[in-house]
Amino acid sequence: MRILLLGGTSEARGLAALLVDAGVDVTSSLAGRVAEPRLPVGPVRIGGFGGVEGLRRALRGASEEPGYDVVVDATHPFALGMSANAAAACGVEQVPLLRLERPGWEPEPAWHYADTHEAAADLAAALGLRPFLTVGRQELARFVPALGDRAVLARVVDVPDLELPPPWELVTSRGPYTLDGELRLMRRHGSDVVVTKDSGGTFTRPKLEAAAVLGAAVVVVRRPAPAPGIPTVHAVAEAIAWIENLGRARQP
Ligand code: NAP
Repeated sequence: MRILLLGGTSEARGLAALLVDAGVDVTSSLAGRVAEPRLPVGPVRIGGFGGVEGLRRALRGASEEPGYDVVVDATHPFALGMSANAAAACGVEQVPLLRLERPGWEPEPAWHYADTHEAAADLAAALGLRPFLTVGRQELARFVPALGDRAVLARVVDVPDLELPPPWELVTSRGPYTLDGELRLMRRHGSDVVVTKDSGGTFTRPKLEAAAVLGAAVVVVRRPAPAPGIPTVHAVAEAIAWIENLGRARQP
């Protein structure tokens, strides 16, 4: 059984390590967005497939792609395009698809939720004067109309192409973060509102604890709706169990 593991997350790296260890034929796939990605254990391919059609070709086996029998979509909860393409391509090619998605954060009563980044920007503008944006480089432009004149601190992994408004400050870093580090950064900036996607997990949670300590508001962008009808698990161990079941069902 040859598995294509759509990655870019800590869960995908965890799953790849366990599958490689168990001798399973798995290839991890990364988008190639960040300059120095954390590489998973085992074979890795990097770069987009070329939409649904490109992914369908890769599943069947074409040029440098060996062909795959199973896909595990362990991309980030906000990587909507890749998940939609995987659902479409696997549907047409009749390739079993599993979604591995870490749970969102347990909501706190004080947090404010928004359905879009634009709505999150408006909320942040209403809630604070010194927003701390942790929404990723690709989303920053959506915050400029509402927050262009504020003393924003924007934290990203790689420097964005976007020309930042003059009052904005950029910091580049990559998690996991600590509560102490987040408190230092937010105190230094004077952050009074934190904006985040509902990414879930532990790597980036300390900023939310720091916000509680400092009395800063929190704005959370809700996750987009998942592609319907795709079997979904929320932990690496559950993904392993699903793959084992599939393997057993395929044995003659
Ligand atoms: P996206 O908007 O869903 O994907 C856009 C396009 O990038 C896809 O159509 C695909 O190109 C390519 N792509 C995305 N993930 C890929 C993968 N794992 N392997 C091969 N191609 C991939 O994705 P995104 O939000 O830009 O995120 C890119 C990657 O970063 C994802 O793999 C995700 O797991 C990771 N990531 C994203 C976030 C986030 O907040 N969005 C945070 C942390 C990590 P083609 O159409 O050409 O195939």
